[in-house]
Parts: sequence; C-alpha cells; structure tokens
Amino acid sequence: MPAARRTPFVSLTIFRVSLGVPLCPRGLKFFEVGARGHQAESPKLKMKPSDLIYDWNRALPAEFLPAGPVLLNDETLRDGLQSPSVRDPSIEQKIEILHLMESLGINSLDLGLPGAGSRAVEHVEALAREIAGNRLKIQANCAARTHENDIRPIAEIVQRTGLKIAAATFIGSSPIRRYTEGWTEDFLLDTTEKAIKFAASLGLEVMYVTEDTSRCDPEMVKRLYSTAINCGARTIVVCDTAGHATPMGAFALIKFVLDQVVKPSGEKIRVDWHGHCDRGFAVANSIAALAAGADCVHACALGTGERVGNTQMDQMLVNLKLMGISPWDKQDLTELKDYCQAVSRATGVPIPPNYPVVGEDAFRTATGVHAAAVIKALKKNDIELANAVYSGVPSHLFGLEQVIDIGPMSGKSNVLFWLERHGIPASDEVVERIYTRAKASDHTLSEAEIRECLR
Ligand SMILES: [Zn+2]
Repeated sequence: MPAARRTPFVSLTIFRVSLGVPLCPRGLKFFEVGARGHQAESPKLKMKPSDLIYDWNRALPAEFLPAGPVLLNDETLRDGLQSPSVRDPSIEQKIEILHLMESLGINSLDLGLPGAGSRAVEHVEALAREIAGNRLKIQANCAARTHENDIRPIAEIVQRTGLKIAAATFIGSSPIRRYTEGWTEDFLLDTTEKAIKFAASLGLEVMYVTEDTSRCDPEMVKRLYSTAINCGARTIVVCDTAGHATPMGAFALIKFVLDQVVKPSGEKIRVDWHGHCDRGFAVANSIAALAAGADCVHACALGTGERVGNTQMDQMLVNLKLMGISPWDKQDLTELKDYCQAVSRATGVPIPPNYPVVGEDAFRTATGVHAAAVIKALKKNDIELANAVYSGVPSHLFGLEQVIDIGPMSGKSNVLFWLERHGIPASDEVVERIYTRAKASDHTLSEAEIRECLR
C-alpha cells in the first residue's frame, strides 16, 4: 500500500490511500473542486451516482465477498408452503409463478414433495410438464424423505413427463434431533446409504439434505456428507432448519464442510445453503455462506415458510445484483415485484408496506428534507441521481420509481412537486392550502384529500 500523500485536500484522499480502494478520478475531482472553495457546482460537470458514493461494502479484501457465479434454488412452492398461514396455490397460479421465476433467471426450483399424496403428485406433474413443454431453462428438483415411498413417485413423474428431476432427500442430523427421535448414528448413516443408492438405481440425481446441520457436531457432519458423496450424491445441502445460525456461524460451517469433506473427497461437489429467518439473519447468513464458498442458496419469495420463514428470494436477488455478483449483476430484475405480488396473491401472504424494495413504501417519502433532495436531483433531469440520493436501492433497477407524497413532515417543495407531477398549476393560494392541511394532519395525505384543497 503506498504511503499517505501529504495533501491539503484531506478527507477523501486519505480514504483512497489508506484503504487501497481507488475512488473514481471523476469523483475525486468533484470533491477536490469543492475543497478548494468553489462551492457552486459547475453546470457542465454531470456526475454519475457511482462516482459520488464511497462504497464501504467493498473495503474488505475480496475473500470476504462471494466470488460467484451464484446459483439460486427457489423453495417457494415447497418449503414456502409449509407456512401455517399460506394457502396452497392452484396449479394455474403455480404455473404463473414458475414463469416469473424463469424470467428472473432463477436457476432451479423445488416442485414439491410428491410423497405427500395425490394432490402433491398432480401439482408436481403439471409443473414438470410446463417446464418440459416450454423448454424452460429452470432446473427441477423434488423433496423426499430418505425413504423409498418418497423417492419412487419422483422417478415415476420423470418417466411420465420426460423432465429430469433431482431428488432432494432429507434427513435429520443434529444431536438434539437424534436424541428426541431415538436415532443412532449408525441408523442415520445406513438410511442415507440406502436412500441414495435407491434413488441412483432409479436414475435420479441426488441432492443430499441434512436438516439442522447448523447445530450438528462436526464429526457427524463429516460422516453423513462423506457417506452421501461415497454413495453418489453430487450436491449436498447444508441447512439452518431451526434458524439458529449467525452469519459468522454460517461462514464457519460452510468452510468446515468445504475443507473437511468436499476437498478431501476429490469430487466436484455442489454445496447449497438452505436457511431460515428465526433470528432475522436469513439473507445475511446466505451471503456469508456464499462468501465462505457455497455455490447455491435456497430461498422463497417474500421469505414464506414455516414459523417466520425461509431466506427471502427477492432480497437475495436485490443484494446479489447490487453487490455485482455474477450472473445477477447482468440479470433483468424488473419483474421482481410481479413475482412477489403473484406469490402474495396465490398464497394469501400480504406484503407489508415497509417490506424492502417491493413494499408500497419502499421508495415513497413525505419527509421534507428527503423529498427536497430527491426533487433537486430530478430537476437536474437525473433519474439515477434521484434514485440514489436517499436510497441504498436504486428503484429503476427493479422497474420501480420514487414517489413524493405530502404529509405533516413535508416542506413546500413536496407540494410543488406533487402538483407538477399531476399537471396542476401551483398558485400560491393552492400551495398554502395543501401545506397547511398537511401540517395539521396526523398522516400522509391521500390523493383525494389533496384534491379537496384544490376546490
Ligand atoms: Zn427449510
């Protein structure tokens, strides 16, 4: 790292040198101009938001960031439906959701658990036919206990539809689960071996899933995965079934699995992270697992799922894009809200107004200072600037836009801007009337309330 340069243009130059992360020369020039005392910005100098944001998220060495490419497996139509509050969507609704997953570039999905009965078989088969018939890119898998009765129906659906479907066979692993169920270690290893060999004998690819891995002792983690790999599993799924992990724990566990199981096996093994949100860490844990070297994350639209749910797929897509991780940095995500709304309609899970990115309030402000900055940026005819100045998520990347409303915290600029956006002339009297009403109100004014002030 070069020695700090002596300079009168203090703060930003110090950042640049000490962290070894170069600021874009255009950004630096902008600030140096300011530091020399030229307060007024040159009208010719149009800055890109990326030149104006110092990104502390990239200040750490590269090994703390997921290298990519990252795979995403959608569990909305299986694990997501284990939420006690959801409705099982109709086949038509599931097919609509499937196509939205495809258009968002999601790599694979869990079609369901055909071992659960005839309705599950019918739905899984309809989805499989839709994928095969439309030659969708999305890959398919089905959940199954490590039991012949769950594995056989998957092979039968493969035969009837011609679609390749992996069997995601799951088994409990942790000491607390083994004690509760009365399972011996040998029983688990035996069951693992029989199930994987049986699935392989039916021509199925196996994803081997250990439940509650984040609370399982290292010796058993090693023995279960080694057995699975020896029997032919080429994907292993590390689960935080009870939502116990912290990001540091997720990182440590994935590193252990890679160093102690995958590398010694000499095989090319895909490692998946499947997390839940009980402690509110689901997305952070998934990013930490990827940074540790996992290849794929399992997630559900809106984080639906048992108890407080799974990792939020929509938030994973947003973060992978904003972090510049391949291939999501290039992926068109303008249908993200459609995907979330389709899942919300089909399952009856509401989207809270303050939900990240797709909630109604995600890009809406009525606060005077915030709105004034957004409006100033819009007046420069710079949508990118307007969408970045007060938001860590630029709305246009997701097909959405900033909304300026009028409420008790608003300034007159909110009123002027709202009137302009609605093509209404802003006389002093009208502005004053709306402003006075907003200041006396205990909530953001509705459009009807604003229009009442125009009469
Ligand atoms: Zn789960």
